[in-house]
Amino acid sequence: MIKFSLPSFLIVLLLLSRINTFSQVNYSELALTGRGDLELVGTQDKLQKEVFEAFKKMQQDALKDSISIKIASAYRSFDRQQEIWNRKYETYISEGLTPQGAIEKIIAYSTIPGTSRHHWGTDIDLIEEVVNIPEKLLTEENYINKGVFSNFKRWMDKNSEKYGFYLVYDASIDRKGFKYEPWHYSYKKLSHPMLKDFLKIDLVALLQSVNLEGNKFITPAFLQKYTNENILDINPKLK
Ligand SMILES: [Zn+2]
Repeated sequence: MIKFSLPSFLIVLLLLSRINTFSQVNYSELALTGRGDLELVGTQDKLQKEVFEAFKKMQQDALKDSISIKIASAYRSFDRQQEIWNRKYETYISEGLTPQGAIEKIIAYSTIPGTSRHHWGTDIDLIEEVVNIPEKLLTEENYINKGVFSNFKRWMDKNSEKYGFYLVYDASIDRKGFKYEPWHYSYKKLSHPMLKDFLKIDLVALLQSVNLEGNKFITPAFLQKYTNENILDINPKLK
């Protein structure tokens, strides 16, 4: 039988308390804005290791119920989000929209680069591998009623939270910001602390320092509203 003396018992307690301190990771601004400094696994669809493992478990269990879950989009870098933004901005401006109009139209579905939850390696857009994959994957009609991914969605409604995955932009009619995205799930255990750290970032300074079309029209007041509605008006379980 092992006996602990009081001093060694205290040392063990001290070590345990230190382990606990180390487990509270603080994420850097670069990690939170898709500019590196984040450990990811996977080749095409990159995620943080813990998220990837939770997803694999969910995917395997869903398969037992004949639901084949597939990732449409996982981690996205700042650069990738910037390409999406700049391409959309140029298109809308060429169609005659004002800069403000173009920005409003982009943020109905796309985030301002640096502010995407896809930068965190915790969030995924999911589809079901079905025989007739529609050309346009991520539209609401695919997931509701008798839509092609509706079996998947019903399975997720029942099971996803058991694996730690929560819908972010839910169907609540009172919700502002991004529209309903029945495909976008977040791994709460990691994305919750990341959101808290993200809110400490000076977005005004960040967006002025990057090469982003129309960024001079993104005012501090606009960013405040965007933060309240698009970043914070999400599924209450993730706040
Ligand atoms: Zn998404």
